[in-house]
Amino acid sequence: MKILKYLFVASLFLSTGIMQAQDQEENSEATEEVRKQGHYNNNRFKQLYEEFSTPNQYRSASGAPGPNYYQQQADYEMDIELNDEEKRLYGTETITYYNNSPDVLEYLWVQLDQNVRARDSKSPLIEPDGAVPAELAASFVSNRMTEGFDGGFKIDYVRDEDGKPLPHTINRTMMRVELPEDMEPGDDFTFSIKWWYNIPDHTVNRARSGYEEFADGNRSYVIAQFYPRMAVYNDVEGWQNSQFWGRDEFALPFGDFEVNITVPSDHVLDATGSLQNRKEVFSKEMMRRYDMAKKNYDKPVIIVSQEEAEAASKGFATSKKTWKFKAENVRDYAFATSRKFIWDMMAVRQNNGSTVMAVSLYPPEGNPLWEEYSTRAVASTLESYSRMTFDYPYPKAISVHAKNQGMEYPMICWNYGRPDEDGNYSERTKYGMISVIIHEVGHNYFPMIVNSDERQWTWMDEGLNTFVQYVAEQDFGEKYPDAIAPNQKYPSRRGPAKNIVNYMSADQDQMAPIMTKGLNTYNFGANAYGKPATGLNILRETIMGRDLFDYAFKVYSNRWMFKHPTPEDFFRSMEDASAVDLDWFWRAWFYTTEFTDIGVKDVKKFFVTSKMNAQVRQMMESRGMSESDLPPLVYLVEEDSEDFDESMRNASLKDVSTLQEFIMDNYSAEERARLKKPKYFYEITFEKPGGIPMPIIAEYHYADGSTETITYPAQIWRKNDAEVSKLMATEKEITKIVVDPEEETADIDTENNTWPQRKKLSEFESFKQRNDQD
Ligand SMILES: [Zn+2]
Repeated sequence: MKILKYLFVASLFLSTGIMQAQDQEENSEATEEVRKQGHYNNNRFKQLYEEFSTPNQYRSASGAPGPNYYQQQADYEMDIELNDEEKRLYGTETITYYNNSPDVLEYLWVQLDQNVRARDSKSPLIEPDGAVPAELAASFVSNRMTEGFDGGFKIDYVRDEDGKPLPHTINRTMMRVELPEDMEPGDDFTFSIKWWYNIPDHTVNRARSGYEEFADGNRSYVIAQFYPRMAVYNDVEGWQNSQFWGRDEFALPFGDFEVNITVPSDHVLDATGSLQNRKEVFSKEMMRRYDMAKKNYDKPVIIVSQEEAEAASKGFATSKKTWKFKAENVRDYAFATSRKFIWDMMAVRQNNGSTVMAVSLYPPEGNPLWEEYSTRAVASTLESYSRMTFDYPYPKAISVHAKNQGMEYPMICWNYGRPDEDGNYSERTKYGMISVIIHEVGHNYFPMIVNSDERQWTWMDEGLNTFVQYVAEQDFGEKYPDAIAPNQKYPSRRGPAKNIVNYMSADQDQMAPIMTKGLNTYNFGANAYGKPATGLNILRETIMGRDLFDYAFKVYSNRWMFKHPTPEDFFRSMEDASAVDLDWFWRAWFYTTEFTDIGVKDVKKFFVTSKMNAQVRQMMESRGMSESDLPPLVYLVEEDSEDFDESMRNASLKDVSTLQEFIMDNYSAEERARLKKPKYFYEITFEKPGGIPMPIIAEYHYADGSTETITYPAQIWRKNDAEVSKLMATEKEITKIVVDPEEETADIDTENNTWPQRKKLSEFESFKQRNDQD
C-alpha cells in the first residue's frame, strides 16, 4: 500500500506541474505524464557520437594525440630573388619530404596558391558580381578593361635529386608530382622546383600578398604563398588537396627552412626565422641599436629611423644584398622588404625566462601611429597569449604595416591602420590597428603552432584566435590605459555575448553552422570569427567559469602544440580536462544556426494550506482511496484558483496543521529552530523560444531592495525544451525578475526577459515616481 501511496503522490505532483523534479525512475505513470507533454525524447542533450569520428590509435577519445599519432615533415632550402623593377619573384627550392605515415605514397601533392591569380583561374567565375552602385576605379580598370593580371606560377622545372625531370600534373592550385618509386613508411624524398611569377599589387584585388606602390615610385613588398608548398597528408583527410579558391586558408606540414633572399641592397627586410648573416646586411649603427633592443623590455628601440628610411627612399640601388635565414619547425614562410621601412624592436620576457623580440616594420605613412603602438601591441599580445596557452617558442614576432592587409604567417604578419596624409587618425583607425595586430600576431599560436587545417575549418584558427584576441585586447587596455578613453575598457568588437546578437538574429536563409567550410558560409566574419569566439567566451564566463575553462584551453593548446588537431580533438579536450559535459553546447552553437532566447513567461503566487483541494480529492476518489491512505500533504493554492480564499493570505506556515504535525514528529526542537520560514511562494515559468539551451540566469529583486541571482544550469531544459517552472519559497516579496541581466548568453530578444513585463513595469514605475514626488 505504501508504494501505491507514493506513486500516486508522485503522479499528482507531476500533473500539477509544481514539482517536476521528483524522481521518475521506474514510475511508469509519472513517465507517461511527462511524455504527454511532448518533450520527453528531444535530442539537444544527446551525446555527439554520430557527429564525431570514432576515436582511434591516431586520435584518442580524450582529445589527445593517440599512441600512433603521426605527422609528415617537409624541409625546404630556397634561393629567392626579387626583381623590384620587373615586379617579379624568382625562386628555386629543394624540398625534402618525410613519410612518417604508415601508408605507402605513390605521388605527392604540392600547392600552387599563386595560380588563384592566373589568367585561367576559376576563382572569379564562381563569384556572382552584378552591377554595384560604385566600384573602385582601380578594380574597374583591372576587372573590366584589361585582360586581367598575368599572375600564377610559371614552373621552369620539377626535378629529382639527380636532376631528372619528374612527371607532374597541375590541376589549378594543386600539382601532383609522381614519384619514381613508391614512398614506403619512413622513406624520405628530395626534389627541386624552379619557378617565377609576376607579383600582384595587393591594394587592388585584396590579395593576401604582393606590393603597394607609393607616389614616389617606391614599393613595399609583403610576400607570402610565394613558393610551391607541400600539402598536408594525414589520418583524417589523406592528402588535403582541396583547391584554393581564395577564401579558405591553408593546410601545411611543419618543417625546417633555410632561405636566402636577394633584394636591392638599399632594402630593409625581415622574414620568418633567425637572420644568419646580420653583420653582412646591417650597418655598424644598426648592430649597436639591435644589441640595445635585445636588452630593452620597456619600450621599442629604433633600428632604422624615419629619417633614414626617407633618405633611403630617394635612391634606387642597382646593387643587391642577400639576407640569409633559418627557421625550425614552422609550417610556412613569408617576408617583407622595402627601402621605405622604419624598423623598431623591443625585448619580451617569457614565463620560462627566455627572451623573444617584438618587431615592427612600417613605411613613414604609418606614423605617428605605428611608432607609438605597433611593437607595444606585439609585445602585449605575446604576454597575453603565452599566459593563455604556452610560452612563445619562436625567437621573434614581426608586425608589418601594409595597406588594407590583415594576414598572418609564422613570426611575421601584415597589418592595416594608416593615418591620413597629415598624420591624423581617428579612434576607429587606432583601435582597428591595435586589434588587427593583436589578432595577426595571435595567429602565431593558432594556426601557426597549434596547426589546424584552415582549408577545412576556418573557426579552428579564426574562432579560437579571436577569442584569445578579446582577452588580449582587454589586457592591452589595462596595460596602456592612456591609449584608450578614460575609465573605459578596450572597445573589443568581438567576444562579448551581446555583440553577436545582431548576427544570431539574422535571416536563417543567410546562415550556416560554424562547422561549414568557410568558402560556403554566409557572413564569413561573424560566422567563422565572431560566433565561435563568443561561444568560447560564454563557456569561459558563464557556463564553465574561468578556472575550468582556462585549464582545459591550455590542455588543448599544449596537447596540439606543433601538431595537427581536428575539431573533435578540441571538443573532447575541453570536456576531458574540465569534467563539464559540453556536447549540448557544441551541438547547439557549432552544428546549428539556432539562437538563444529565454524569458519569464509567467509568475504565479501560491499559498500553503492543509485543506485538501478539489483536484487531489477527485484523483483520490477516482482511485478508491481515502484520506488516511495519504502521507501528510501540504497544498499549494494559486491566488486566482477556486480553492483560494482570502484567509490564506494572512495565514502563515504555523497555521498549516499537516505541516506542523509532520515537523513535530520528525524534527527536534533544535532542528525546528533552524528551519527557514518562507512567507511567499511563487511559481516562475521560464520560456525558451530560442533553440539553444542556455543556463537561466535569474536575478530576483525583493521588496526590501535586495537582489539575488540564481543560475539554473542549461540541463534544466533537458526534458522540456519549451518551458520550465521553478517554485521559489522566500521570506521576502519578489518585485521583479530579470533573466540574463548582464547580457551573457546572446539572448536575441530581451522583451521577454523582465517580469513584470517592461510595459507594465514602466506604468508601475511612473506611478511610483509620481507618488515619490508628492
Ligand atoms: Zn585571422
